[in-house]
Amino acid sequence: MFRKILIANRGEIAVRIARTARRMGVKTVAVHSDVDANAPHVAACDEAALIGPAPAAESYLRGDRIIAAALAAGAEAIHPGYGFLSENPDFVEAVEAAGLTFIGPPAAAIRAMGLKDAAKAAMEKAGVPVVPGYHGAEQDPAFLKARADEIGYPVLIKARAGGGGKGMRKVDRPEDFLPALEAAQGEGRASFGDGACLIEKWIVAPRHVEIQVFGDSHGGAVHLFERDCSLQRRHQKVIEEAPAPGMTEEMRRAMGDAAVRAARAIGYAGAGTVEFIVDASEGLRPDRFYFMEMNTRLQVEHPVTEAVAGLDLVEWQLRVAAGEPLPLRQEDLRIDGWAFEARLYAEDPARGFMPATGRLRRLRLPEDRARIDAGVREGDEITPHYDPMIAKVIVHGRDREEARLRLIDALEAAEIAGSTTNLAFLARLAADPDFAAGRVDTGLIDRKLAQLSAPPEMRPETPALAAIAALGLHEAAPAPAFDDRSGWRLWGAETREVALIGPDGAARAVRLQALAPDRFAAEGREIALSRHDGRLRASVDGGPARPVTLMRWSDAQGVVAAVIDGPATTQWRLPDPLESADDVAAGGDAAAAPMPGLVKAVFVAPGDAVKAGDALIVMEAMKMEHRLTAPRDGVVASVACAPGAQVAEGAVLLTLEPEE
Ligand code: ADP
Repeated sequence: MFRKILIANRGEIAVRIARTARRMGVKTVAVHSDVDANAPHVAACDEAALIGPAPAAESYLRGDRIIAAALAAGAEAIHPGYGFLSENPDFVEAVEAAGLTFIGPPAAAIRAMGLKDAAKAAMEKAGVPVVPGYHGAEQDPAFLKARADEIGYPVLIKARAGGGGKGMRKVDRPEDFLPALEAAQGEGRASFGDGACLIEKWIVAPRHVEIQVFGDSHGGAVHLFERDCSLQRRHQKVIEEAPAPGMTEEMRRAMGDAAVRAARAIGYAGAGTVEFIVDASEGLRPDRFYFMEMNTRLQVEHPVTEAVAGLDLVEWQLRVAAGEPLPLRQEDLRIDGWAFEARLYAEDPARGFMPATGRLRRLRLPEDRARIDAGVREGDEITPHYDPMIAKVIVHGRDREEARLRLIDALEAAEIAGSTTNLAFLARLAADPDFAAGRVDTGLIDRKLAQLSAPPEMRPETPALAAIAALGLHEAAPAPAFDDRSGWRLWGAETREVALIGPDGAARAVRLQALAPDRFAAEGREIALSRHDGRLRASVDGGPARPVTLMRWSDAQGVVAAVIDGPATTQWRLPDPLESADDVAAGGDAAAAPMPGLVKAVFVAPGDAVKAGDALIVMEAMKMEHRLTAPRDGVVASVACAPGAQVAEGAVLLTLEPEE
């Protein structure tokens, strides 16, 4: 076994790899960019090396610096995690040329799966079913159209070099084929430098079922059963589970055998996933699954397999990379119970799942109810530089329903404030009746998007709780305190009006009366607070006392009050009495980033005269361009950004000279 490995990644996966390495007595070296110097993955490792500035292209994608760091630290092997360099065969070869071991498959196996057409051809040869279609070399448009007509519409055009859903076009009618082909070829050329396409039959209401495979360097290969990842949004997985609902032993054997054949055909070693698309229009049938692609790395969702198989896949990766044979044979592997994983992200479902940023003022994840694989801690800032994943919540139960109830319970017990998240969205999805019944397909989320992604619902007493938080009255009153607290007696018997700006941006006033410590009246309700094991509970009009967390903090824009009520967190701003004047001045003198994103162009320099409405800056966020325009006539005083800069939401990018 290795004495020391370098982990060429960040976030939850780097932390998770370090955890297994420590359990095995293997020392770890972290790599990090300059903004990640204090990140959890650095803390999780024994040593750390700085490899460059924040942009991944200058740090986590710099194979040369990572290899140099491994050599300098005396590491014997490099674990790539997922993403970044994990599926880059040139990196694998460079690692090996430096005399180090790559903890993953051989470069040739990665290359064999790199292009969709070559991968499909290799799989067909190995006897693995592939989606019916054309994946040959001939690219003449008329020829491809003739193939599409034969396959029958709808068809899917895929750029062979495509990934992440790019370069794919669904075509419903023959007359739309040629323009769609041109678009897919153009996208393939623009994004991947390769315009060649393949044509596939479109599978209606498909399910995404993938098989975990493992190979060793002695010719051994096994599968560790399936995961169902049908709950997707724009081809991104949201909740994954193992086993797949409705899976039969016959189908599992057929899919497992096909996946092992796929792995053997390309000389696979290490952890890999063979992704299949399943035509489930008539249930799961062994003749209705088709190879889609193979991911030649550890997957984000590997913990659901670990939960049901009772194994540590990172331990297997290390053992196999160190030259050991696979720890278990196929006949020794069993599925025990059911597992789910939910991906918790800093993003705003109500605004098209736009990535969110911000400081996590509170992040309490229920480690007592679920396995939590987190890459950030309370107090950390979510920046626009990297993937906005906060954590993966993984639960295991004896059967699907027990696991599902545990998932809901864990999501409802999480407490997050300071950044918008998809927590409430996940909790609603976990409670959805179709999901509960195991009726999953890749279109489920889109069909119910409006109800799933609506902002969290507020209880009638939430504004009153926000007012209590805004005044800091939830902080435990010292014992004899009521009389001693200066200020209280003055207004204790009277009402105090608390002005708040709600999560919807609307201003409201709450008339709050303190009746006694921890007892308040507001908006026609009486609220009693109590504390148990350091957790606050609130009872309304003598009803059951339910857990709630109240917080107050200040940031650059002023004071914020937060009410964390299960997965629903609402944040309220206290209007600054001087704000109306400030606001005009700020709005009139500055251009701030409306969202986190990339600065594409800056059209002005200090000293330039501008007219109201002139374009000043172009930003790109969510793959769309946004123009920031001059709020009034004036002269540019300062420019605080340059093209290529990543900026946070609210960052002031440009100021105008004050008006006389
Ligand atoms: P990418 O490499 O861009 O992620 P994939 O080939 O993995 O592309 O496909 C992405 C997703 O598109 C799949 O998870 C599935 O939901 C959908 N998809 C792919 N092929 C088909 C098909 N033939 N019919 C219907 N949906 C498909």
